[in-house]
Amino acid sequence: MLNLTRQMIEIRSILLSIGGSNALRLPSIVVIGSQSSGKSSVLESIVGQEFLPKGSNMVTRRPIELTLVNDSTLAAETAEFPALKMYNMTDFQQVQKVLYELNMSIPETEAVSSDPIQLVIKSPKVPDLSLVDLPGYIQVEAADQPVTLKSKIRELCDRYLEEPNIILAISAADVDLANSSALRAAKKADPKGERTIGVITKIDLVDSETARKMLTNKKYPLKMGYVGVITRPPPSTSLFRRHSGAQAFVAQQNFERAYFKEHKDSFVGTTVSTKALKKKLMKVLERSMANCLKPMHVVVSNELEEASYKYKVEFNDRDLTSEKYMAQTIDNLKLAIKEFSERFGRPELRALLRSELDQKVLDLIALRYWNKPPVANKSKESENEPSLDELATAPPNDNFWHRKLDIATASLTKLGVGRLATTLISDAILTEIDVLLDNTELRSHPMIKNAIKDAAVSVLTTRYNSTAEQVENCIKPYKYEIEVDDREWALSRQHATMLLKEELKQCTSAYNQLKKTLGGNKLKQITTYLENENNLVGQTIANENLGFSPGLLSRGREALFLKERSRLLAMRLKFLQSDCKSKDNKYKCPEVFMDLVAEKLTQTAVLFLNVELLSDFYYTFPRELEKKLGQSLTPEQIEQFAKEDPKVKKHIELQERKELLDLALSKIEDVMALQKRIV
Ligand code: GDP
Repeated sequence: MLNLTRQMIEIRSILLSIGGSNALRLPSIVVIGSQSSGKSSVLESIVGQEFLPKGSNMVTRRPIELTLVNDSTLAAETAEFPALKMYNMTDFQQVQKVLYELNMSIPETEAVSSDPIQLVIKSPKVPDLSLVDLPGYIQVEAADQPVTLKSKIRELCDRYLEEPNIILAISAADVDLANSSALRAAKKADPKGERTIGVITKIDLVDSETARKMLTNKKYPLKMGYVGVITRPPPSTSLFRRHSGAQAFVAQQNFERAYFKEHKDSFVGTTVSTKALKKKLMKVLERSMANCLKPMHVVVSNELEEASYKYKVEFNDRDLTSEKYMAQTIDNLKLAIKEFSERFGRPELRALLRSELDQKVLDLIALRYWNKPPVANKSKESENEPSLDELATAPPNDNFWHRKLDIATASLTKLGVGRLATTLISDAILTEIDVLLDNTELRSHPMIKNAIKDAAVSVLTTRYNSTAEQVENCIKPYKYEIEVDDREWALSRQHATMLLKEELKQCTSAYNQLKKTLGGNKLKQITTYLENENNLVGQTIANENLGFSPGLLSRGREALFLKERSRLLAMRLKFLQSDCKSKDNKYKCPEVFMDLVAEKLTQTAVLFLNVELLSDFYYTFPRELEKKLGQSLTPEQIEQFAKEDPKVKKHIELQERKELLDLALSKIEDVMALQKRIV
């Protein structure tokens, strides 16, 4: 035995997995029959299991491509749906359910879909066959369906009925063959009757003479003839229903065998029984598969040549698999993280935290010192409170200013520096990771990109609380006492001067901008008006605002604020120059002292942030990535990842196609060589 069909079926499934051109298809047996002709019973008795969904209302909406594989190592039938990755199913009621659901996924309004369901059944009892169960072709013809749907169904069926497929036309013996819509359809696709096998079911329902006439049909002679079967024993015997699963088919075969034995003489010269049908199908399929070998060789060689050429031109023959692509991606990412760690270390961390604390210092100073109204504008409530202008002349041991600086300093040291610094650095790292990901091939892989970001967040979250706590603990002493030496004081005086200058620059530029947009004269009018009304600043004086809109008034107030702030900053800068040279004058120089506190907090916090958060992140994160991407993904997830990028998808798929064509071609050549040797 050449076992050609088996090998061709293997080749066929390789070619099917590549998809595409119809030319790649090898012959199948296409089963057609009108409703109740016994089509399901024939298919099921070939398989020896009940697996087709039942129901009168168009249950088959998609072609079922059924591959039967004879496997003598198996104890019983198993089914698989390769496209759904469902394998080794032994419960055929479950198979029936899956088929039903797959069919019902096509809405009734669409009637049919050309997307076939692939089902493989392996068993020691089935022959190697490839069969197609077509959607309710013929039953629909008669049904009350819109013309467009009918033609859609017809088109789909016609495609399957084309050469080189073999047509298995099922007709029931209790219906006149002249009315058999299966034979009518077969005749249309195969007028000479060269590729059609006629099956007459329900032989038991007619007398032997009528049956005999049907099996030797002269009106539509078929080269491969007709086969008579009894695929269900008559209900009166209730043989079939008394058994279940494979047992029922044993009963059916026994009944069929007994029936044909009993009517032996009437069927001389005809082909009858399911067993004979199976044999015939195998023989016919093997023959037409053999006929297809040579043309298939040509088609596959051409396709391979074309795929190889494309692969060379488009991808320079560069080998790529999903796994390789994933490994490359992880390596690139690790490299990018290493580069990032060189770019973002302790100095950068320090600069980031320092600038955040500088801002806090400015805010606190503004709140506690600068926002106080000048002497002339003091309101009743703040009457007793000295203004900033008075700070310059206040005696060095003035209690009021001592208390003020202590409160301002406490606001800074008790700000929650631990959490603030840890959040600041964590956020900065995450932003950098985002930028970094967008600079690698991962930008086109949202799924993995998110997984990496989650990994970064989880590494940072694990360290967050302990880092924040440690930082907070280490800055604790500053909450009680801050020692200052001359060198530190000098540096902070410099730094504070720089900050104030920058603040002054910003105020001036904001003021100039307002002046530019409103016009110098207009601004002057508004500010003069507001200054005259200074006791009412902040209120809307509807009747006496000289026609200035609330918007203009609010801009005017802003301009006044900026002007006053600039005056104050200039005054403080001058004071810093003249009176803040010595640390002994610290209560009169809050800007310098607070700057010094910010510097001390930064220095201490950075020590811990660097070790506890940053270095730990650079160590742990690449390992976490390796774990998440390199080890715990399934091959399907890796494939899904690689193919998310259209270019990579094209590359990998072309390579796979080339390899599969190559495999199919060598298998075809093996079979051809074997065939030659045997002939
Ligand atoms: P389908 O609609 O073409 O798939 O037909 P089925 O296989 O469902 O069969 C239709 C009906 O005919 C069912 O009630 C079967 O039990 C019955 N039937 C099928 N084959 C035979 C047979 O060989 N003999 C008898 N007596 N009944 C059969």
